[in-house]
Amino acid sequence: MELDLQVCSRARLTRDPRFDGKFFIGVFTSGVYCRSICPAPPAKEKNVRYYPTAAAAAEAGFRPCLRCRPECSPGTPAWLGTPNTVSRALRLISESGLEEGGVEALAERLGVGSRHLRRLFLQHLGATPSAVAKTRQMHFAKKLIDETNLRMSDVALASGFGCVRRFNAGIRKVYHRTPTQIRRLARQRTLQPENQYLFRLRFRPPYDWNGMLAFLAPRATPGVEAVVNGCYRRTISLNGSDGCFEVSLDEASNVLVVRLQFGEPRSLFSITERIRAMFDLNADWAAIVQSLRTDPLLATQVDFCPGLRVPGCWNGFELATRAILGQQITVKGATALAGRMASGFGKPFSSPDGLTHLFPTPEVLADAKLAGIGLTGARAETIRALARAVCVGRLSFDGVLDSDVFLNRLCEISGIGEWTAQYVCMRALGQPDAFPSTDLGLLRALNLSNRKELEHRADRWRPWRAYAAMYLWESSATTAHKKSARSEPQVCGFLEATSSEDLNYYTEVRSREMDQSLCSSVSRHLELSRR
Ligand SMILES: [Zn+2]
Repeated sequence: MELDLQVCSRARLTRDPRFDGKFFIGVFTSGVYCRSICPAPPAKEKNVRYYPTAAAAAEAGFRPCLRCRPECSPGTPAWLGTPNTVSRALRLISESGLEEGGVEALAERLGVGSRHLRRLFLQHLGATPSAVAKTRQMHFAKKLIDETNLRMSDVALASGFGCVRRFNAGIRKVYHRTPTQIRRLARQRTLQPENQYLFRLRFRPPYDWNGMLAFLAPRATPGVEAVVNGCYRRTISLNGSDGCFEVSLDEASNVLVVRLQFGEPRSLFSITERIRAMFDLNADWAAIVQSLRTDPLLATQVDFCPGLRVPGCWNGFELATRAILGQQITVKGATALAGRMASGFGKPFSSPDGLTHLFPTPEVLADAKLAGIGLTGARAETIRALARAVCVGRLSFDGVLDSDVFLNRLCEISGIGEWTAQYVCMRALGQPDAFPSTDLGLLRALNLSNRKELEHRADRWRPWRAYAAMYLWESSATTAHKKSARSEPQVCGFLEATSSEDLNYYTEVRSREMDQSLCSSVSRHLELSRR
C-alpha cells in the first residue's frame, strides 16, 4: 500500500479521526507506534515514520503507545482496494486467527503459494500474515486487560495464547510491563458483574447511527432483536453458549458502546469481530464518499446525511432466512413472520430487556413444519432447503473465499433468486460492491425502468455499490414518510425481494400483507418491464 506522506503528516498534526487506523506512526525518539489521533504532543516530522498497519510498525520494532492505545483503533479498512487475496486473507484471519498450520494452511485455503501470500502482505500491509495475526492477538489481549475484569488466565485463553506463561511472556516482550501492571495503568473501569462486558468499538467518523437504526428497527425480529431508545439489542448463540448484547452510540468519542452478556470468554474475540462487521465499523468513509459524490443524486444525499453504513448481520443463516421470509411481502409483514418463526422454533431465552428467544438454528428449521406460522408451501420449502444446505455443509457463511461460488450455491436453492442472493452477499459477507440490481426500490429512486439502466448507472459507484444502495433505499423510505423525523425509525415501504422470478410471482400472489400502494407500484413496474 502506498502511503501519501503529506496526507499522513497533515492527518497526524491535526489528529484527524477520519484517518484513525488507516496508518500508524512510528516515533523514533520514544520507540512507540501511535494512532493518528494520539493525544501526546506530536513528534517532529524527521523523527517519525508512517506504516500502513500496526503489524508493520510492530515488525519494525516499535511498541504500542500506552496513551493512544493502537489496539483501540478502528483497524484496517475493510476494503483497501488491495488484491482480493489480501482482503480474503484478512477476513479469514479476523474470523479465526491463524489456525493450526499457520501461513501455509492459510495460503492453501486461498489457493496461492505461501511465499506469494507473504509477498502480497508485505506489499500491501507492510507486514507478513503471521505478524498481522500476532498483532491482532496482542491487541485483543490488551483490550481485555484494559476493558474487562477477566482473570489473566481467562484473558490468555480468550486471546488465543493457549497458556498463561506464553501470554505473560508475550505481553512483557511487547509492552515491557506485566499484564497486572498494564491493568493498573488502565483508565478506570466500571465494574461489571460476572459474564458481563463493556466494550468500546471505534469507528472512523462520520457514522450515521440513526440511519443504521432506521434500517434495523423495522426488520428487528420480535423476541430476538429490538431497537429501543437509540440502542440495538439482540440474543446470540455461539459455540454452544447463549447470551445477548446491546449497542449504542457514544458520538463524542467516535465509538459504539457494546454491553455484552456471555458466559464463555473464549468467544469474546469472535463476538466483538462479528459486531464490528455487523455495524460496518471498518468502513473507510473518506474513500467511499469520493466515488459516491461523482453521482449528482447521491452527492446530495451523502452531504445531507453523511456516514451511512451497510448493516451487516449477526448470523448469515438468520439473515438469509429473513430475506426469504421477506420475498413478495412488506418489511412489516416479513418481520411479523420472523417473530412467529422465532417464538415457534427458537430456543427460549430469558432477559430483563424483553428478548425472549434465540433465532432458530438450521438443524431445527431443516424439517420444521412452517405452514402454521403463515408461510406459503413454496417459501417454507425454500427455508428448509437453505437450512439443509447449511447442515450438510454445502453452504457456509463463514470463511467465504469466493463470493461467486457462494452466490451460485445460494441460487441453486429453489426459491432463491438473484435479488435475495445479492442482498445476502451485501449484508452477510460484507461485500461493499454487492448490488441487488433488480430491486424495485432502487429503480424507483432513480426513476429508471430496467436492470440494464440501473447497472450502467451503478458502474461509477464501484467498488462501493452497496453503500449507494443504502442511500437510495433510504431516500425512497424518506420520500414515503416525508413528514416523519429521521430520528424516529419508520417502516420502510420497499419490497424485500424482486428477482425476475419473483416479479412473475407477483401477478399470482396477493399477499394479505401487501398494502394497496405497494400493489400498485408493483403493477406499475410490471407494466414498465413488459414494454
Ligand atoms: Zn500514542
